[in-house]
Amino acid sequence: MERIYFTEEHKMLQEMVRDFAKNEVAPIAREIDETGRFPHETVKKMGELGLMGIPWPEAYGGTGMDITAQCIAIEELAKVCVSTAVTMMAHTSLGSAPIFMFGTEDQKHKYLPKLSSGEMLGAFGLTEPSAGSDAGNTQTRAVLSGNEITVNGQKVFCTNAGHAGVIVFTAVLVEDGEEKGISAFLVNAGTDGLRMDPPEKKMGWKASDTRTVYFDNMRIPKENILGNPSNGFKQFLKTLTGGRITIGALALGTAQGAYELALKYSAERSAFGKPIHKFQGISFKLADMATRIQASRHLVYHAAWLKDHNLPVIKEAAMAKLFASETAMWVTTEAIQVLGGYGYIKEYDVERFFRDAKVLEIGEGTSEVQRIIISRELIKGLPAI
Ligand SMILES: Cc1cc2nc3c(=O)[nH]c(=O)nc-3n(C[C@H](O)[C@H](O)[C@H](O)COP(=O)(O)OP(=O)(O)OC[C@H]3O[C@@H](n4cnc5c(N)ncnc54)[C@H](O)[C@@H]3O)c2cc1C
Repeated sequence: MERIYFTEEHKMLQEMVRDFAKNEVAPIAREIDETGRFPHETVKKMGELGLMGIPWPEAYGGTGMDITAQCIAIEELAKVCVSTAVTMMAHTSLGSAPIFMFGTEDQKHKYLPKLSSGEMLGAFGLTEPSAGSDAGNTQTRAVLSGNEITVNGQKVFCTNAGHAGVIVFTAVLVEDGEEKGISAFLVNAGTDGLRMDPPEKKMGWKASDTRTVYFDNMRIPKENILGNPSNGFKQFLKTLTGGRITIGALALGTAQGAYELALKYSAERSAFGKPIHKFQGISFKLADMATRIQASRHLVYHAAWLKDHNLPVIKEAAMAKLFASETAMWVTTEAIQVLGGYGYIKEYDVERFFRDAKVLEIGEGTSEVQRIIISRELIKGLPAI
């Protein structure tokens, strides 16, 4: 894998993040899962290491690497703490990417250096109570009048929202009483009319901040429109395509983390006078886990490579997300089985990976939505009968 997709620079990054994850993230992973505490200190350290702006050019304060590098860092973090990995992933792929891809030079210079240094956290609000898979049904309205926009609506499940300095959100732009379609906008924390609920209490991703955000007659300047308003819908689909590759990396790390714990345990635990991995029932599980993880790895890094080379990636990104997230759910379930009763006990960490895996099949487009995207792409080129 490394030989195909990774440069020397990628390998150095991998080693650096692996060390950081082992020394700084793993020691607190169980604690932040149990308490739901947001790991501010880790975000600060990730900023100092350049992990909060990996794909953005140095001119905007980024590390100047690529999506492959971003996936490497996410995978390494997720191997020990999925909450920490998703905080960085959502910040970069969802909160910062639209600013880099569609922002004006002023917007990029205003936000990206702060986002890349970790001084400011980013969030992305797309989902609404009646607009999840059906994102086109966005109800939030942004009414443009002169140089000011008044926003009313709400976003649910917004990752990082409670700690974000800037939130990118989608709304239907209304001008002169006419609906112009869905566009993306920026809002700074502390803006009048921006309100939030306390964090959601979730099954997993416990230390990741997830909230409902309300826009109550919230006023923002016209220059907070992100990108070309007439292309708003296409823009956020492009954001999600990139996000799917990195959520694939998140799933890959989740599966790998649980697998490594199961593999180690299978050598340490004896039953009937021998290590349990000597039983075919266990060794075949390990073989299947490793094989599916390797397949996920190829899908994820192949999609990242396509994106880094500006090649079409809609189908491949959806395949990577679909396969890697379903693999993560399957591997974490099997990992618990390998540990038997101890797999069910928090001290052994495998149940944390299991709880963290489920949402991978839901966020950034459910498994069903990924199948819709893949099948649409397959059918697209067929002649009509
Ligand atoms: C922890 C967490 C963090 C999240 N973070 C963010 C975030 O930062 N920003 C953000 O905007 N959103 C975020 N989300 C929202 C997430 O992307 C949505 O939950 C997801 O897209 C599904 O939308 P929904 O929950 O409304 O489900 P629904 O769309 O209501 O789907 C319900 C079920 O119906 C199925 N379904 C729907 N339509 C079809 C169809 N056409 N064909 C077949 N099946 C279908 C779905 O697959 C699913 O099984 C987050 C969610 C969670 C749980």
